[in-house]
Amino acid sequence: MIRVFPGKSASRRPVSTGYLIESKVAIDAPEGVLYPNPELIILTHEHCDHVTGIPNHSCKIAASPTAIKEISTGHSFCKELGLPEIKGTKIRPLKDGERLKFPSFTLRILHTPGHCPGAICIYLEEKKCLFSGDTVFPDLMLPNLSLPYSDPHLLMESYEKLSKLEIGKFFPGHGEPFSSVGYMDELKDGLRALMP
Ligand SMILES: [Zn+2]
Repeated sequence: MIRVFPGKSASRRPVSTGYLIESKVAIDAPEGVLYPNPELIILTHEHCDHVTGIPNHSCKIAASPTAIKEISTGHSFCKELGLPEIKGTKIRPLKDGERLKFPSFTLRILHTPGHCPGAICIYLEEKKCLFSGDTVFPDLMLPNLSLPYSDPHLLMESYEKLSKLEIGKFFPGHGEPFSSVGYMDELKDGLRALMP
């Protein structure tokens, strides 16, 4: 079972959506979200709207090595948006292609840089669900690529990688879960049209 936890911001800051898989593993730590006793929280990337809820939880946290570096050096944009900085939290690094096995499900980690260098997607193998963070959004909306380190070419490589997966349902970092056949191909076309 996948439960949806929409973030709630105290001000008008952007908030992300969190998810809880089988009451065990949560995806992202948005502001205003309290998961009931997760074992592990996996961060899709380093941006503040996905990490600022970390101090509310005492479970293990995991993210890509790059996201960990960005978070530990204060590059999450937390300060800029008036949120407390997340530094000094012990975070376990996740390798590209790593599979995390739980009694009733398996999560595959896919490094998907482009929007930011530390981005990952998490694939729930048994249910063919993709937790896509800020890499894939509904309605063919592309991620923010205006950040100094955003890279449309890297994003295209990440989309190529994701299009090899059979994805039954997307769980994006913002907005509602959705299903769409051939979605990654449509998204690649949209990104290609924007390429310099
Ligand atoms: Zn982001």
